[in-house]
Amino acid sequence: MRQANLLVGRTLAEIARMIKPGVTTRQIDQLADTFIRDHGAIPTFKGFPNSEGIPFPASVCTSVNEQVVHGVPTDTPLKEGDIVSVDCGTLLNGYNGDSCYTFCVGEVAPEVRQLLKTTKESLYLGIQAALAGRRIGDIGYAVQHHCESHSYGVVRELCGHGIGREMHEDPMVPNYGRRGNGQQIKNGLCIAIEPMITMGSREIGILSDGWTIVTRDGKPAAHFEHTIAIHNGKADILSSFEEVEQIEGKLY
Ligand code: MG
Ligand code: MG
Repeated sequence: MRQANLLVGRTLAEIARMIKPGVTTRQIDQLADTFIRDHGAIPTFKGFPNSEGIPFPASVCTSVNEQVVHGVPTDTPLKEGDIVSVDCGTLLNGYNGDSCYTFCVGEVAPEVRQLLKTTKESLYLGIQAALAGRRIGDIGYAVQHHCESHSYGVVRELCGHGIGREMHEDPMVPNYGRRGNGQQIKNGLCIAIEPMITMGSREIGILSDGWTIVTRDGKPAAHFEHTIAIHNGKADILSSFEEVEQIEGKLY
């Protein structure tokens, strides 16, 4: 699982190198698809069916500005000041990787950078709360408490998940919750934690493509995701932002 997740991290780093104004999300998707297949893996999102059986048409989800998650790549060029989350999944040697990073396109407004910073912080707070003997609700509580203390919205309808041989396994890992609630966390549990955080209201809608989730108020949303394994009582992060953060020079 670490190999699949590190490949996701390397794919996100390739994307970090190409993101700038004028690049299209379809170009990002094409680069990711080629890079993943060149490394002997399968981009798991391609053709993945939603609840209505509509297959996802691309190899990564690219969600721009008010798009929260599951954005479908298009030929519209990114412009200065946009943010774009790229969610990437790979299947390598029978195991799944899943990780997401929200990128800045050129100079981004300080209040939007703050949204990204807080969302990424909440991911790591959720990971720190994932200790053997504690419960899934402790993770959601940590994410929710941090983001709501900054007056951001925490999307309720979508959540993290178990992961392993399948991309989505039990348990569900909500980004909200109460301490001490939910399934107990044990050594060997592998989960994806993925806060989806909005600058305004947490109300969401879906576009007519059947996939793209957007904020109802049109305000920006951020999404960061790591896959972790509980090992020796605490979280071992299997995916990696290290290379991405080197490339973007820790902008926020
Ligand atoms: Mg993902
Ligand atoms: Mg996921």
